[in-house]
Amino acid sequence: MTNNYQEILKKCSRCGGCQAHCPLYAERGREPYVARGKIELMENLEANNLEWNDKLAQIFSTCLLCGSCSENCPNGVEADKLVRLARKDLVLARGLPIIKKNVFQHLLKYNGRLKTVGKLLAFYQKSGLQKIVRGTGILNLMPMDLARKESILPSISGRAFRDTVSARNTVENPKLKVAYFTGCITNLVNPQVGISVLEVLGTHNVEVIIPEQYCCGVPALASGETEVTKFLATENIKYFTNLDVDYIIMDCATCLSTWLEYPELLESEEAGKLTGKVIDINRFLVEILDIKLKPRELGIMVTYHDPCHLKRTPGGKTSPREVLKGLSPSYEFVEMELADRCCGSAGSFNLTHYELSQKVAHHKVEAIKASKAQIVTSSCPSCIMQLNHSLKNNNIDVEVKHTIELVADCLKANSLS
Ligand code: SF4
Ligand code: SF4
Repeated sequence: MTNNYQEILKKCSRCGGCQAHCPLYAERGREPYVARGKIELMENLEANNLEWNDKLAQIFSTCLLCGSCSENCPNGVEADKLVRLARKDLVLARGLPIIKKNVFQHLLKYNGRLKTVGKLLAFYQKSGLQKIVRGTGILNLMPMDLARKESILPSISGRAFRDTVSARNTVENPKLKVAYFTGCITNLVNPQVGISVLEVLGTHNVEVIIPEQYCCGVPALASGETEVTKFLATENIKYFTNLDVDYIIMDCATCLSTWLEYPELLESEEAGKLTGKVIDINRFLVEILDIKLKPRELGIMVTYHDPCHLKRTPGGKTSPREVLKGLSPSYEFVEMELADRCCGSAGSFNLTHYELSQKVAHHKVEAIKASKAQIVTSSCPSCIMQLNHSLKNNNIDVEVKHTIELVADCLKANSLS
């Protein structure tokens, strides 16, 4: 192995405590799917008792990187980090699978191409083509479980959010200036989240700059690909440097956690200074703006799903809940069981391991149902997509929204009342 994992690997005492916290072990019940099993395999790879092969590649791809094992490990073993390092070694030893390689090299690095894909998918959905294709059943005959993967696609807007709004959203006498990293899903799939961010911040006298930007790089980072990740990180740092802003806000937990990796990834102090300004939109509303709304009586029950990438950041668990509680009595917050359990989305895990991902999601679906909430919120567009799909799959009629959308709805209702 190229990386020296010895120090981290040695910390594992083989206690097996991680079994109780791993969503995949709960489904599979087999050692290679839990941190302890993977650590043992990594030790054998490190000692040259094993060589990378298809089976090992499959085992190391089967991890949500949810960090639940690391969070609960009595010895502080960062097993999710180890899995990512192992994937990096795997890429060095065997290269990336061809589809991933092409997506990373020829799509992620090009905003124009990403937008074209968005437009094509929107055309496919809105022109009636999707209905025809589904009706023929042809997708069921395609390889790689294409029919089920296609069904995950949410409704795509077709117009990139960043193309529909001003790059500088000025307000008179701004009390703060922020730069907004929109992430790909808000930009290409769910522009309503971006619109809500601008509405809420505009109402609170915050000037919002939306600079040129690229994908945060998480698909490549999670796959162990370094070159594309570094390219995207470098470009994003370049575009967000020298903007003279107080904060860099994000509505996506995954983008936020990826940005926080930039300093280590690029070994750059400058990146470290910049990422010090990064803040989740919920935390920004609660800790910086201290927003106070006057919601009207409506009494809609709402619950919250913790994205894995947000819950371990400062204020990551408390801020979204404080935001939601501040919307009472319009929305009555109710805590659900297993709120901080991974929903199974995990970037592209729901595409590469569809069945297993849906099994993980099923626990969340049951918890949402038991909460009796009419709306489930989250702060990660990727989790929102997964929850939407899994709830529909289980014929459960619960709306899924980003927390900022509810805040924007409340503001609108206030101005109308
Ligand atoms: S990773 Fe942590 S919890 Fe799991 S076996 Fe090792 S020491 Fe125990
Ligand atoms: S990161 Fe999550 S899925 Fe992966 S081994 Fe740890 S608990 Fe299991």
